[in-house]
Amino acid sequence: MPTLAQEDFEMTPTEKRALRLIVDQALDASKDKNRNGIVAAIVSGEDIVGIAENEVNAFSDPTKHAEMVVIAAVTQSLDRKQLEECTLISSLQPCEMCLSAMRFAGIRRLIFCARQESVDPKYFVFPKLRIRDFQRAGEPFAYISGVLENELLHLYMDGDE
Ligand SMILES: [Zn+2]
Repeated sequence: MPTLAQEDFEMTPTEKRALRLIVDQALDASKDKNRNGIVAAIVSGEDIVGIAENEVNAFSDPTKHAEMVVIAAVTQSLDRKQLEECTLISSLQPCEMCLSAMRFAGIRRLIFCARQESVDPKYFVFPKLRIRDFQRAGEPFAYISGVLENELLHLYMDGDE
């Protein structure tokens, strides 16, 4: 992988499988007014080691974005704080909090569906921060954006989720 954040890797079969799962789960959750249609997964090698929905409304907790929930669940289940071999996959471009958390967890590989420029601005509190701002010197970090975006865009265009 390169040292600059950029889109240039091939998804593994497991990453593709996880992507399909989170898209379907996000569509499903969006139909339930007690759930949020934002879903994230973590893949390690050939395993999907975690999948979680946004729980901000469920717990009235602004930190419970899907990515935060799945990172916490996976670090607990694997009993370690670093997930450097893992890929984070999200139905929506991770916000600044989640990008920071994924980097604190050592995650260097990111795949997401709906892109910041395509969705309601409410999902990003610091819109001037870009994914490349979460680069660390000398450490590989790569991402793929906009995968299956058209399947989910209607969930995020008006900020309903
Ligand atoms: Zn977030």
